[in-house]
Amino acid sequence: MFNSCVKPETLITMTYEGVLTKMQSEFGSPIQYYLVFENGFLNVNQLLNKELEINFVGYQCLNCGKKKKIFRQGFCYDCFYSSAAVGDWIMKPELSTAHLGIQDRDLAYEQKVQLQPHIVYLALSSEVKVGVTRKTQMPTRWIDQGATQAISIVEVPNRYLAGITEVALKNHYADKTNWRKMLTNNVEQMDLIAERLKVENLIPTEVQEYFYSQKNDLYEMHYPVLSYPNKVNSLSLDKTPQFQGKLTGIKGQYLLFEDGTVFNIRGSEGYLVRVNV
Ligand SMILES: [Zn+2]
Repeated sequence: MFNSCVKPETLITMTYEGVLTKMQSEFGSPIQYYLVFENGFLNVNQLLNKELEINFVGYQCLNCGKKKKIFRQGFCYDCFYSSAAVGDWIMKPELSTAHLGIQDRDLAYEQKVQLQPHIVYLALSSEVKVGVTRKTQMPTRWIDQGATQAISIVEVPNRYLAGITEVALKNHYADKTNWRKMLTNNVEQMDLIAERLKVENLIPTEVQEYFYSQKNDLYEMHYPVLSYPNKVNSLSLDKTPQFQGKLTGIKGQYLLFEDGTVFNIRGSEGYLVRVNV
């Protein structure tokens, strides 16, 4: 007689090690996400329903490459306050001055980034929010925010004009995503095409000529999420240097796990990690 015996499943663990940078994405249904490491990339969608282990190994500044504690946006303290790539005009586009030939930290860099087409948009990630992006970053910017829908309001030739438009609209709309609502899929229902028509009178005079009134360019984003958590807990590698869980979704720049843990990849840029799959 046969002895019925279940063979243990063959476990092959793959290990990836590298410095985290925001996930690259590809617009599709659903959106495809990639973690890019020095010697290869990982299609994160393929890890859905699998156990992942994330280990914090150390810090590595994305700018100087030194093993210094990360201050903000993947940069160490010194780089954050000196690099042209993180001047105040990044978060506050209305402070842009390259169109006047005025330097903040590095005029050549600022001209390259600020003097190019920018979009002001409405996006639905929790409530309707207003935002600014370079045209080349569309729809990546919306995917990074976890927006389910987005629509452009104006396309302007520089960052300053986009910034003053956003400032004018901030009186009427949020300018930040409520990430807890976004991750639990608590999203307001809204007709963005109708909403765009309401903002025409709210935008500054010098931007009126750039207003999109008729363009039918509503984007819809579909995220690879098997199930949404009811409540979320954000993972911090500083406090929890080792985490293991089953991946149940990817939205915005977050990994969602079965136990309600969420991990903001973008918020952990510059962290050297080892991922076991
Ligand atoms: Zn640095």
